[in-house]
Amino acid sequence: MPGINDLMVQKRLFNPDGTRERVKQRLVGGPSTNLLEFDNCRYDWAEALYKKMRSFFWIPDELPLGDDKKQYPTLTPYEQDAYKKTLSFLIFLDSIQIDNLGAIASYITAPEVTACLKAQAFFETIHAQSYDYLLTSVVDHMTRDAVYDLWKDDTHLLTRNKFVTDLYEKFIQEPSPENFIKSCMADFLLEGIYFYSGFAFFYTLGRQDKMGGTVSMIRLIQRDENTHLALFTHIIRTLRDENPEWFTDDVIKDMEEMVKTAVTHEISWGKYVTRNQILGLSDQAIEMYIKYLGNLRSEAIDLRDPYPEQKTHPLSWIESYSSMNLTKTDFFERRVTNYQKTGKNFNIGRLRPPSFDE
Ligand code: ZN
Ligand code: ZN
Repeated sequence: MPGINDLMVQKRLFNPDGTRERVKQRLVGGPSTNLLEFDNCRYDWAEALYKKMRSFFWIPDELPLGDDKKQYPTLTPYEQDAYKKTLSFLIFLDSIQIDNLGAIASYITAPEVTACLKAQAFFETIHAQSYDYLLTSVVDHMTRDAVYDLWKDDTHLLTRNKFVTDLYEKFIQEPSPENFIKSCMADFLLEGIYFYSGFAFFYTLGRQDKMGGTVSMIRLIQRDENTHLALFTHIIRTLRDENPEWFTDDVIKDMEEMVKTAVTHEISWGKYVTRNQILGLSDQAIEMYIKYLGNLRSEAIDLRDPYPEQKTHPLSWIESYSSMNLTKTDFFERRVTNYQKTGKNFNIGRLRPPSFDE
């Protein structure tokens, strides 16, 4: 058995000594030939997730944003500021995910899981492109440039960005099992906590009938992020099942600390961005909401609740925006008439999310 600090070995592109035998496969260090074979794959959840992701494909620049462009100047200065800062952080998160997922995938010996990670990277590319399209459509060039360069002057943003990349880089520089677990944890927390005060901010705008195009785009992005969260939930759980010796008490403690750190950072960022000036999203609401998510994420990977006092959802209205089982009366349906492109009707059918129970 390798020690926790032994370096992991990257998988071979093609392993002629490998086997197709299903029961012998492992997530990391397994004997796969590396040929992708969904019908005979070890991890059924990966096949289901891959198909789910594939069914979610969408094209950002098909979303009409003319109304948002008109409405943006009417937002309060606080809303405009939060809009820009939130986008700046989301642009960063989605952009670095595109590359980092490849670093994780190069150690995964289950081709069906690699397929999911590659599909995820493609969706992160769609997300990064969607923010680009959003800014080009809604704000002027100067504002757009300022959003992309915000980290240069905003130390709060720079610190956050560096915290995420340092964890990813650490595994790339020193690919030990412990750093692999932590890199997967960082992915899991990015997908499950870091996006969420940002999403909540956009949904408060949606609730006031503001920036409908932006809100629709964020909803499509969150629908995708849910599949990524499910993917990393499965990866972490499977790693733990297959390599219990890697998950020492110290490692588990570090994982629990990582959840708390992510929650603390997200709360402080959410408060910084909204400055307690956004209708429906007070400092207290942000704190309760993110702590609630911290519990939810911990439970998903069998860690202890970091905030046992926060067991209920403090902003349950958010679920009507982020729910994966959208009903006829939801925001999306109400917006159908807005999906009118010059010359042709926008195909709402493609955008209506199928149910997703992860
Ligand atoms: Zn994304
Ligand atoms: Zn994602």
